[in-house]
Amino acid sequence: MTEPRPFADVPNQLYIGGKWCDASDTSTFDVLDPATGEVLATVASGSEEDARRAVDAADEAGRDWAATPPRARAEILRRAFELMTSRIDEFTELIVRENGKSWADAAGEVKYAAEFFRWYSEEAVRVAGHLQTSPQGDKRILTLQQPIGTAVLVTPWNFPAAMATRKIAPALAAGCPVVLKPASDTPLTALAVAQVLTDAGVPAGVVNVLPARRSGAVVKAMLAHPATRKLSFTGSTEVGRALLRDAAEQILSVSMELGGNAPFLVFDDADLETAVAGAVVAKMRNGGQSCIAANRFYVQSGIYDEFADRLTKALSELSLGSGLDRSVEVGAMINAAAVEETTGLVAQSVEAGATVTTGGEAAAGPGAFYPPTVITGIDGDNPILEHEIFGPVAPLVRFDTEAQALDLANATQLGLASYVFTADLARALRVSEALEAGMVGVNRGFISDPTAPFGGVKHSGLGREGGSEGIHEFMETKYVAIDW
Ligand code: NAD
Repeated sequence: MTEPRPFADVPNQLYIGGKWCDASDTSTFDVLDPATGEVLATVASGSEEDARRAVDAADEAGRDWAATPPRARAEILRRAFELMTSRIDEFTELIVRENGKSWADAAGEVKYAAEFFRWYSEEAVRVAGHLQTSPQGDKRILTLQQPIGTAVLVTPWNFPAAMATRKIAPALAAGCPVVLKPASDTPLTALAVAQVLTDAGVPAGVVNVLPARRSGAVVKAMLAHPATRKLSFTGSTEVGRALLRDAAEQILSVSMELGGNAPFLVFDDADLETAVAGAVVAKMRNGGQSCIAANRFYVQSGIYDEFADRLTKALSELSLGSGLDRSVEVGAMINAAAVEETTGLVAQSVEAGATVTTGGEAAAGPGAFYPPTVITGIDGDNPILEHEIFGPVAPLVRFDTEAQALDLANATQLGLASYVFTADLARALRVSEALEAGMVGVNRGFISDPTAPFGGVKHSGLGREGGSEGIHEFMETKYVAIDW
C-alpha cells in the first residue's frame, strides 16, 4: 500500500480502561482487505484474562458514569456525533478497506452510525419515570428508570461502525459502561470509534474495545464475569442462540439482533418503477450483506415478467469493483468463503430448475467479488428460500393471490424485515399487519432509521435498537411503594 490507511495513528491494540495495550498473551490476528486479499493490519487479539480486565475497568468507571448528569452525558454524545461527521471521509475509507463495501455504502453507513450519537444525545435527557395512584386510592406507585449496569456488546462485520454506535450510544445515554467485542473481520473501525469517543470526552473505562480472534472464549469470559449485567448482540441466529445459553447462567438481560430472511412482495397494482428501484436498494445495499436485505422476491403473476426483466436490467448495469474507486456501485464481499457460499447457493437453485438472468458466476480474483444476480423461475420450495443469502442474489417466485403471498412470506422462523409494494393502501396495511416481521417497508426499499425501533420477531431476535425504545434496553425499572 502506498498511502497509510485512515486512523493509522490509532493503535491496533486493545482499548481497556482508557489505555491502549497488547493482549496479555501477546497474540495478534491479521485483518484482510477483501478487495485485494492483502493484509491491511495486524491487531492485538484479546484473551479471556483481557476480557475480565475489560469488564473490571467498565465496572469501576460505571459508578461515576451512572451518576454523571444526563445533560453532561448528552453533550459528550453530541460531540461524538460532530467528530464522527467531521471525519466522514476517513471513516468511509477505513470501512471500504476492511469491509470491502462500495464508497457510497460506506459513506452512508458513517452518516447512519453518527446519527445514533446525535439521536441518543437527545434521548439521554428525556428518560421519564411514572407516578400512579393505587386503585384503592391510598397508596402511590413510583417507578424510576435506572441504568442497568455494565454491558457487553458484540457486533458483526457487515456494518462495522453502525452496529457499534447503535449499541454504544444508547448504553452511554442510559448511564452504562460498555465492553465492545467487534467482529474479527472488521476491528479497525471499532477502534477508530473508541478514539472518537475518547476525543469527545468519554471518561476512561466507560468504553472498552476488545478485538479478539477467539470470539467464543472471550465473550464467554465476559458473560461469566459477575459484574456484567447486559448482553447486546448483533449477528447470526446460530451464535445468538449459543450466547443466550451463556447469558442464562448469570441471568443477564439480553438484546438480540439476529439473522433475517426478508420477503419482498410485489403486487400487480404496484408502481413498477418504484418497485424495481426499491428492490435494487433492498437487495443491493452493502452488496446484499445486510440482515434486512430482501432475500425472497414474491411477485404477482400479472407483473412478474416485466418486473423480472426490469430488475435483471437494473442489476446487470451495476458496476463491480474496489470501493476505493468512488464510481463503483457494488464492492467486494467480506471474504472468499462468502463468495464460495453464494456460488453454491446459486448452483443449487439452478439444479432445482431455476434460470439465472444476470450474473451467476464469481468474478475472477484477486479479491472476493460476486456480481449482482437475478434468478427467475424459483419454485416455492427451492432451498435458496430457506437461506439468509447474504450476497447480491435475487431469487424471484411467482404468486397469484394475496393469501398465497402471505403464506409464502411467513413460512420461515426468521422475522426481521419485510417489504410490500402496492398502490392499494388498504392492502398495504392489511399485509403489513399480517407479515410476521419486526419491520415492514411499504413502497420503500430503505428502512433503516436511527429514530425508529429496529428489530425482529421469531428467531430474528429480542428487543429493539434505535428509536425511543433503544435506550430502555439499557435501563431497569425500579418500583418504589409509597404510603402517601
Ligand atoms: P456472527 O454471528 O458470525 O458474528 C457476530 C459476532 O459474534 C462477531 O463479533 C463474531 O466474532 C462473534 N462471534 C462469533 N462466534 C461467536 C461465539 N461462538 N461466541 C461469541 N461470539 C461469537 O455474524 P456475522 O457473520 O458477523 O454477521 C452476519 C449475521 O449478522 C447475519 O446473520 C445477519 O443477519 C446478522 N445481522 C443482524 C442484524 C440485526 O440487526 N438483526 C444486523 C446486522 C447483521
